Amino acid sequence: MMFDVRNPATGEHISSLPVFSASDVSAAANLAAESAKSWENTAASVRAVKLVNAASLIRSRQDALASLLTREQGKPLAESKSEIMGAAHVFEYYASVCGSIRGDAQNLPNYGYLNVVRKPVGVCAAIIPWNMPAIIFAWKAGAALACGNPVLAKPSATAPLTVQALGNALHEAGIPTDVLQIITGDGGETGRALVDEPLVRHVSFTGSTATGREVGASAGRNLKRVHLELGGNDAFVVTKSADVKRAAAAAVRHRFYNCGQVCTSAKRILVHESLEAEFVSAAKERIEQLTVGDGMLGNKMGPLNNENQLRAVSDAVSKILNKEEGTLVTGGERVEGTGYFYRPTLLCNVVPEAVSEEIFGPVMSVIPFSTDDEAIEIANSTEYGLGSSVWTDRLAVAHKYADELKAGVVWVNKHLILPPEMPFGGVGNSGFGRENGMDFVYEYTEAKSILFG
Ligand code: NAD
Repeated sequence: MMFDVRNPATGEHISSLPVFSASDVSAAANLAAESAKSWENTAASVRAVKLVNAASLIRSRQDALASLLTREQGKPLAESKSEIMGAAHVFEYYASVCGSIRGDAQNLPNYGYLNVVRKPVGVCAAIIPWNMPAIIFAWKAGAALACGNPVLAKPSATAPLTVQALGNALHEAGIPTDVLQIITGDGGETGRALVDEPLVRHVSFTGSTATGREVGASAGRNLKRVHLELGGNDAFVVTKSADVKRAAAAAVRHRFYNCGQVCTSAKRILVHESLEAEFVSAAKERIEQLTVGDGMLGNKMGPLNNENQLRAVSDAVSKILNKEEGTLVTGGERVEGTGYFYRPTLLCNVVPEAVSEEIFGPVMSVIPFSTDDEAIEIANSTEYGLGSSVWTDRLAVAHKYADELKAGVVWVNKHLILPPEMPFGGVGNSGFGRENGMDFVYEYTEAKSILFG
């Protein structure tokens, strides 16, 4: 069976790919398992060179890869290009990690001489959503390959082609085709089969909280290691001491980037009541300058990736407005015609409870507050906790928020910056485990203790 990949801006048919059945997934897992020993026994320096060479190929193909990403995912070409270059950088980072994966040695008087070695965990599944497919593939595949594991990567059915093309670059750079395989298909059949497959020993999943629960339950039943990066509904807090113009520019940039479809987008903007009017006016001015249209044609904001997403965003806004839980400043409607376009939307005076669920699209909700304690209480009042930020020029205020915000990441006078050196992940319904950072690469290894008598 095949499925179609279409351009969300134009409806154009781009490609058709096979839906991997459970038996196809099992055959791929067998090939991966058979290749595991030789990849484990490939010198770390050789693995590193292959990853660096893959990064160079990706850089040399940035224009073609960026066009492909825009056509299948919808984001503006400039954003696609920076994501592709980001993916190359991540493979370079993991190349540097290859030679740094260390064990331990210790003399234990009366016991013996202890060696702890790090063995690869085995076949790894990388399950990838459609919003940032290139970078999320690089995070998961880079870490797994650096530690000597084979990888079965499953991109989303609505944005699989860039991941396939990145996979081709890794193969051309010398990563064996059995060591890295791209598994195409939908979540229900192919994704489930991958998580249930006994030969898969590690599952790294990025996607919705609902699917994450199912993936976590299946991994638990089968006693395999699992890492879940789920939704986010984070606060971007503009305190009384913030530079309001700078904060408004950053909020617009980090809310409407990728048409608002980023787990750590600036979704709930908490603004000190004394700055609200100035913030809303500065944000409105910038939002109204965002041109909406096909990402291939120089527009600043593309379409949502798929029809379900468009419907969910449109319903969420209508619900807030119908219940009078926020005031519409600009936007608030879809763009008629072909493509899943929604106007960049600004809501002010939003009741915190109205946005306790994540809105995964171009909607900025401004919530006023009067004290820092109140802001922290509102920020922490959702069940998510992925990446929040605080905007202030006072160190003590920055420390207070950094300490008290419930999130895996807190940025100070920054938002949405995710270098591969930085552990990234969430608390609560945003999942568990961390991606990236040297400590967390060890999740892709098993410690094996050898005690010499
Ligand atoms: P999704 O959960 O529907 O799909 C994610 C991936 O999982 C896709 O590849 C899909 O095919 C696969 N999948 C679906 N059902 C599966 C199943 N039962 N078993 C195994 N695999 C399955 O999510 P989505 O719609 O692709 O992405 C949007 C959501 O993801 C948003 O809620 C967003 O916040 C979240 N997200 C989180 C992060 C993060 O890093 N925390 C990053 C991007 C997106």
